[in-house]
Amino acid sequence: MIIQCSMCRVLCRNRRNQKLWPIIVYLSLSITGCQAAPPMASPTHEPTPVIRLTTVVPGEETPADDAYAQLRLDMVEFTIEARGVQDAEVLRVMRSVPRHEFVPPEYVGQAYEDHPLPIGYGQTISQPYIVAWMTELLELKPGEKVLEIGTGSGYQALVLAELGDVEVYSIEIIPELAEQAAARLHRQGYNALHLKQGDGYYGWEEHAPFDAIIVTAAPDHLPQPLVEQLVDGGRIVIPIGPPGSYQSLWKFVKEGSGLKAYNLGDVAFVPLTGTGTNLEPPTAAP
Ligand code: SAM
Repeated sequence: MIIQCSMCRVLCRNRRNQKLWPIIVYLSLSITGCQAAPPMASPTHEPTPVIRLTTVVPGEETPADDAYAQLRLDMVEFTIEARGVQDAEVLRVMRSVPRHEFVPPEYVGQAYEDHPLPIGYGQTISQPYIVAWMTELLELKPGEKVLEIGTGSGYQALVLAELGDVEVYSIEIIPELAEQAAARLHRQGYNALHLKQGDGYYGWEEHAPFDAIIVTAAPDHLPQPLVEQLVDGGRIVIPIGPPGSYQSLWKFVKEGSGLKAYNLGDVAFVPLTGTGTNLEPPTAAP
């Protein structure tokens, strides 16, 4: 069944002048999907220690990570804050998490640039601004549980975990990427994330319900299992639209048996694959 949105307003991606225009979409939880058209908040988090990776380059006295600190500050100031992301904790984490550790060696020099980068298997690590914006939109509060669909490199998962008192679950459909992300996070000493290989369309039933769900690949409809695994008041941030084209970024807030929906404007994501969307995940590395 297709959910019809009673009104719809596409919002400007530069959020400085943006207002929220909720679209109320009432649906029964037995409904299988919502096809349609997705904005933001300023949560507060207790300051927590940030993981510092200290990759020492032979022959250098200082950790290599120092060389990237200024690039991270610039990335946050010029590509994230400048577009309107304001949450202080999200900005703190974006200034701290070493993105260059999450990209293939040939792309390390571009790790803090304002665009996505390939991570193999036709997939990407998202543009830093999108990572920060989607994280802000989740409005995570201390003690909450968040599910990410599309672990990819593991970068977004670590950004979520570094917010502090938040329990992070993340699912990746491509076995090799799931293994690489788990090994990378493990190697860096980060073991508190819950990772699994599988089809995230169906959520993670054993650990539901979640306070927030972030989907980092685009289905052409809202997966109903994810709606069902959300607490009342829970948030889903998800790109929805046809594969190989622009999609709309949506934020849905669960309110009883209904969803309040916010269309946040155009984005471009890789497709959500698997049986729920009838798209085969790629099997070859390039
Ligand atoms: N969040 C990632 C990061 O920080 O690197 C980037 C994600 S990339 C844009 C989208 C990811 O979603 C890809 O790794 C892709 O394999 C994965 N994906 C696609 N369909 C999926 C599904 N049904 N379940 C879980 N992961 C899926």
